[in-house]
Amino acid sequence: MGKGVAHPPGKGQRPNTGFLEDQLNDLRARNLYRRLKGLEDAQSSVTTIEGRRVLQFASNNYLGLCSHPKLKAAAKRAIEEYGCGSGASRLVCGNTRLYNDLEEKISRFKGTPGALVFSTGYMANIGTLSALVGEGDIILSDELNHASLIDGCRLSRAKVEIFRHRDLDHVRELLNTSGAYKRKLIVTDGVFSMDGDIAPLPELVGLCRSFSCMLMVDDAHGTGVLGERGRGTAEVFKVEEEVDIHMGTLGKALGGFGAYIAGSSELREFLVNRSRSFIFTTALPPPVLAAGIAALDLVDEEPEMRKKLWSNVDRFRKGLTAMGYAPLGETHIIPICVGEPSVAMKMSEMLFEEGIFVQGIRPPTVPQGSSRLRTTVTASHTEEDIDYALKALQRVGEKLHLI
Ligand SMILES: *Cc1c(COP(=O)(O)O)cnc(C)c1O
Repeated sequence: MGKGVAHPPGKGQRPNTGFLEDQLNDLRARNLYRRLKGLEDAQSSVTTIEGRRVLQFASNNYLGLCSHPKLKAAAKRAIEEYGCGSGASRLVCGNTRLYNDLEEKISRFKGTPGALVFSTGYMANIGTLSALVGEGDIILSDELNHASLIDGCRLSRAKVEIFRHRDLDHVRELLNTSGAYKRKLIVTDGVFSMDGDIAPLPELVGLCRSFSCMLMVDDAHGTGVLGERGRGTAEVFKVEEEVDIHMGTLGKALGGFGAYIAGSSELREFLVNRSRSFIFTTALPPPVLAAGIAALDLVDEEPEMRKKLWSNVDRFRKGLTAMGYAPLGETHIIPICVGEPSVAMKMSEMLFEEGIFVQGIRPPTVPQGSSRLRTTVTASHTEEDIDYALKALQRVGEKLHLI
């Protein structure tokens, strides 16, 4: 073989990518190996995973909208009218009329002058943070913020200070020493995705006011669910107008796909011009946009869905507490902390055998020593589903000496 020509490794020789195998083995040894599991039918409270009928207690389909007939019908109509793909980025020629309709709906929903749809929540977060702040600026970020916010902070090149989870004294302390920075921004999850608790928004709003600091709230898990009208965490505290940058997703409670940033019309225009994850990506497919519009209509038209969700949450949390578990948080995300990754995975496997699907959540998604079972309840669970899951959790918890 000629000089510089790549050739396959000989017998006994490791390939150049040999480190992959080592690292995978290391993950396996530490019970941190992740494997994709196949879902064999629609996303719903009862579903089939790897050949087994199970009750779904792991999904973010909080209102059960993923398979709602109105979303499906809207998506089908959009395919017939506009096709399957969008053909280009929005700024080139992918900006179908459906985007305007959806963004108008979101503006009305959030009560903001402007809204901008991004392809995913991940992209909304990295694209917004990196556009709004940069070198010479500072971001204060809750230590339990979602990975997409962490990546957005890194990408922005601003100074990043991590504050202890929901610790306002720590936030104040950091703000007190932030005088030298030009722009300041506090970013927090509204509902924390792995802990099920809620950010102290009124206090954060107060601090932002005192220190001329922007506030960005990632409400991926509050959208459609929290607040009288499902407007999210800011609605609960009546601080919707004080939050500068609202982020929400269409892929969780809203049952579809995509995300948005809502705020002033200048914020929207600025992001259209400056946000790289908005500019340099293909526009969403028409059926996805149509499903988003239909979902927002349902959130308005059917408040019973939220009522059902919260009564299910109450039943499930009370049941868990009664049998000796101490679930974290206060929302529809109901984590059971078990500590070691091996215990979380064992528990998840045993529940699967009992016909309940729940994921074990391990580092780096959660801090070391706080592996957990992240259970979620939805509006489409019946009381029988909830009670069945509780019984299974009791049997498994007793076998593993957790309760
Ligand atoms: C899911 C999630 C995201 C990402 O949204 P996608 O639309 O799934 O990319 C961002 N932030 C939080 C808190 C999330 O839970």
